[in-house]
Amino acid sequence: MAGIGTRSIVACARCLLGVAWCLGLGAAWAQGAMPDDGAALLAARPLAMPVAGVQAHALQDTFNDGRAGGAHEAIDIPAPRGTPVHAVDDGTLVKLFTSVPGGLTIYQFDPMGQLAYYYAHLDRYADQLYEGMVLRRGDLIGYVGTTGNAPVNAPHLHFAVFRLGADRHWWKGTAINPYPALRRLR
Ligand SMILES: [Zn+2]
Repeated sequence: MAGIGTRSIVACARCLLGVAWCLGLGAAWAQGAMPDDGAALLAARPLAMPVAGVQAHALQDTFNDGRAGGAHEAIDIPAPRGTPVHAVDDGTLVKLFTSVPGGLTIYQFDPMGQLAYYYAHLDRYADQLYEGMVLRRGDLIGYVGTTGNAPVNAPHLHFAVFRLGADRHWWKGTAINPYPALRRLR
C-alpha cells in the first residue's frame, strides 16, 4: 500500500510538472508568435513628438488614470494654447471628427493600417487638412487647445494609439499606451 501511495505521489508530481511546463511553453509561444501585439508594433515605429517644444523627459504617464466614463487610455501632454501639433508618424489622415469629449480630433493610420493615432482637444486644425491626405511624420496638423471636455484653463493634447482590428474601423481598436514609445524620443 505504501508503495502504491508513493508511486501515486510521484506520478502526480510528474503530472503537475508536465502541466507547468506546458503552460510555460504555451506562454512563451504566445509571446513569440504574436504579430498582433500592438505595443510591439508601436515600439517598431519611428515616432516624432506630437507637441512642439515638449521634451520626452517631461512627459507624464497618464494612461491608467481614471477619467469620467472610464480609464483614460491615452496620455495628456500639457502645452500653451496654440502650440503646434505634429503627426507622430507617416500615414493617412482618415478622419477629422468632432466629438463631445474629444472636441476637434484627428484620426491617423500608420502606413500599414495597423495602428491609429488619435489627437484630441485641438484648438483648430492646420490649414488645408483633409480626410485621405497622406501625412509625413512631423507634418503640422493642428494646435493645442481645450475643445471637448478639457478644462478651459488647462490646454493639452490628448494623444492615444489604438491597434486596429481586421476591419480597420477608425473608431474601433485596442488602446496601447503611447508613453514608452514617446518617452524614448530625443
Ligand atoms: Zn486625456
